[in-house]
Amino acid sequence: MPTTHAPTATLFTNAHLATGEPGSTAADTAPLKDLLVEDGRFAAIGPDLAARLAAQGRDMRGVQTVDLGGRLVCPPFCDTHVHLDYVFTARKPGAVNESGTLFEGIQRWSETKSDLTVEEVKARARRGIAKELRHGVQHIRTHADVTDPSLTSLKALLELKEELRDTVTIQIVSFPQEGMYSYEGPHGESGADLVEEGLRMGADCVGGIPHYEQCREFGERSMHTVVELASKYGKRIDVHCDETDDPQSRFVELLAALAYREGIGEMTTASHTCSLGSADNAYFFHLTKLLKASHMNFACAPTENLYLQGRQDTFPKRRGITRVKELTEAGVNVSLGQDSMQDPWYPLGNANMMIILDYMLHLAQMMSFPQIDDALRFLTTNGARTLGILDDYGLKEGRPANFIVLDADSVLDAVYERADVLRSVRAGRTLFTRTETVRTDCDLLR
Ligand SMILES: [Zn+2]
Repeated sequence: MPTTHAPTATLFTNAHLATGEPGSTAADTAPLKDLLVEDGRFAAIGPDLAARLAAQGRDMRGVQTVDLGGRLVCPPFCDTHVHLDYVFTARKPGAVNESGTLFEGIQRWSETKSDLTVEEVKARARRGIAKELRHGVQHIRTHADVTDPSLTSLKALLELKEELRDTVTIQIVSFPQEGMYSYEGPHGESGADLVEEGLRMGADCVGGIPHYEQCREFGERSMHTVVELASKYGKRIDVHCDETDDPQSRFVELLAALAYREGIGEMTTASHTCSLGSADNAYFFHLTKLLKASHMNFACAPTENLYLQGRQDTFPKRRGITRVKELTEAGVNVSLGQDSMQDPWYPLGNANMMIILDYMLHLAQMMSFPQIDDALRFLTTNGARTLGILDDYGLKEGRPANFIVLDADSVLDAVYERADVLRSVRAGRTLFTRTETVRTDCDLLR
């Protein structure tokens, strides 16, 4: 009689699964599944697991059971683009962005960042990460501004990454907010020098901001530098690329071509790419071939760019969003990010990825029922692909038991209700549970 079982085993029963794979939707008519979690990993996934495992001789008496009541289970959300060093600085004296433009945001940050300390950045970033966790995020890519010779933001985020690694996965981009070749530090350091120093200190990705550089030539040079540094240090790439309504801002094509030639397209992400929303179709038609061949990823921040872009337009006013629908239809990977939480670039932002998804679906006009049924992949597997963590991600036997439970019984229901996350599980450990109690005397609301 086999009696061995880990005391940590838990059987989560009666779940609808949304795996995040394209075409795999969870309808409320699909059979419910159970998930056996053991030693921090998925040991088995399938219907009627208790009976099936018992029939195989498994002693189930020591296994704790959690009934999920038909709710939707999916892999944890990925926030693939956020600035944790900026969070909750919007109302700092001198930081208020009057014009609502990207460029005033950069100016306000530049003028107010000199008093940062490692402890202060960490305290704010912790508040931001807590919001991410409560909304079901377990994987974050944050940018750290390195156009600051003290590298305070980067030091703070590197410490947090280590301190919180059991709770949340954090990737850090060595990001030159004020440009690689337009920034000059007090001792003559260029932004490129500081990006490289950030990589030596342990940042995961090389950043850039070519559309902000003083001239096209500097922007192009920065793209060459980004790819050279990535190859030199074996790092991923995540560039703030063409975050402007200017259709002539075309650094995304150079980034894709260079990454393609180096064979590192899958390790490369172009963030924002708002200019593609203004480019004409003939240009995009030609570019699409390169984007497909390069396997480069795109990260879109729909709420921030809806707010920041179109500021020079009267009417018609552009929406600021990149071509999520057209990229997706071409087979190019697109994931989403919160980008900002109350910083000089955006006054709101609470890391509720269901809101981010909701905005994207509306702005990109991806609202056929099949598109809505597939929508969670933008927050799950598409995000994991951008982050390069797919091998350790997803609802599969043998993978780390990381998942969230949504207050919905299908993807459509989750998107429709912008469903709350009721539970988040990380390596088998429940990070939190949420219960909602509605008290009412109104018959209609019972
Ligand atoms: Zn950003």
